[in-house]
Amino acid sequence: MNWLELAEKKREEFIKVTTELLQIPTVLEKFDPENKEMPFGKDIRQALDMMLEIGKQDGFITKNVDNYAGHIEYGNGEEVLGILGHLDVVPTGGKWINPPFSAVERDGKIYARGAMDDKGPTVAAYLALKMVKEQGIELNKKVRVILGCDEETGMRGLKHYLTKEKMPDIGFAPDAEFPLIYAEKGIYMYDFIGEAENQLITSMNAGDRYNIVPDVCEVTLTKDLRKEFNKYLDDFNYSGEIHNNKYTIYGKNAHAAMPDLGLNAISLMVEFLKNHTDAFFIHFIDEFLTFDNYGKKLGIDCSDKEMKDLTNNLAFISYDGQNIRIKMNIRYPRNYDFEAGEVKLTKAGAKYNLEYKCIENKGPHYVSPDDELVKSLHSAYVKYTGDTENEIFTIGGGTYARVLTKAVAFGALFPGEEELAHQPNEYLIIDQMIKAIAIYAESIVLLAGK
Ligand SMILES: [Zn+2]
Repeated sequence: MNWLELAEKKREEFIKVTTELLQIPTVLEKFDPENKEMPFGKDIRQALDMMLEIGKQDGFITKNVDNYAGHIEYGNGEEVLGILGHLDVVPTGGKWINPPFSAVERDGKIYARGAMDDKGPTVAAYLALKMVKEQGIELNKKVRVILGCDEETGMRGLKHYLTKEKMPDIGFAPDAEFPLIYAEKGIYMYDFIGEAENQLITSMNAGDRYNIVPDVCEVTLTKDLRKEFNKYLDDFNYSGEIHNNKYTIYGKNAHAAMPDLGLNAISLMVEFLKNHTDAFFIHFIDEFLTFDNYGKKLGIDCSDKEMKDLTNNLAFISYDGQNIRIKMNIRYPRNYDFEAGEVKLTKAGAKYNLEYKCIENKGPHYVSPDDELVKSLHSAYVKYTGDTENEIFTIGGGTYARVLTKAVAFGALFPGEEELAHQPNEYLIIDQMIKAIAIYAESIVLLAGK
């Protein structure tokens, strides 16, 4: 079967359905579990209805699971192949050339919030299933295109769905990149908490979320250290400023999964302060956390061949003259000993009278590269791209795939293309989505064909 030729005939349909879907502004405003008809709001409900209606018109079995998610199904059998797409989008911040929900088509692209994350790829997966059905190909599994309604803000849609429907035995999520992501590091948030009074520092603040390297750190000081601070900035070529007794230093943001791309503002500030104060939390941060993205100072550094290094992000500090909270974010490979690590973190904190607290730990997600699932999907990709150069890979972030026990992230961004998910002027390239439709159809047949 030449799926690419058949996918080409779906071009108009792809454009029509995707455009219509993109014009529904499916940003979550408020999650309201009391509102049974539309727990994620009317727009997300409308998008779910729209897709399920199209599925029904096209002769598929469809199901709406309590307005939290739905699926479009084809094929028979005990086992389920789940294809995980989502209909919600992140807010539209930033400068857009065209209104973000206008879905303007220009130069073979469609511009809109959600174009690649994840409406275009979701429609591509749907049309792939439709082609398989139109060709009369019999399947030995139920193939379900699952339409999540809340991927961006907590995955409550899919989690609820899985309480009502069978967990797919295998699956893939067209919500990331080609060729394929087969493993994702463990994601682990923890804090150090304590209390301290201090003569010099009356407040200290930096950071926002666990998953970001902080780019600003502010302290207020009781003593005039302007001269020393300015010299420090000059000596190391850092940027910062002083207003009255407030001292600010600037680093650079980065995602916590790639902390080396950033410059941690807390590290920069602590490096300055440690010579001017005996505040124990400053010396704690200096001894165990500063300028160390790999947990070496804590003795928790580790690495494995596939998933590479553990990373440790010093994400946040707040001190109000009394209470201290430091927030940390680790991304760890499969061979990390979590319990032994906790002992070390507890001990490090205790040395400075700080309490270690685990906030959330999600273990690594891993499907072997030798698994049939990975091999089949990758071969479908190679067949329609000829690309044997770009290898399947692992990441430090988390994708939608990790909600299922055995699923990988598979497309739909092609190697070398600009990643604009969550950014202004997000777009999809129509030719590439046509290719994605062919790859997904091939994949469905390889994984579920008789
Ligand atoms: Zn997504």
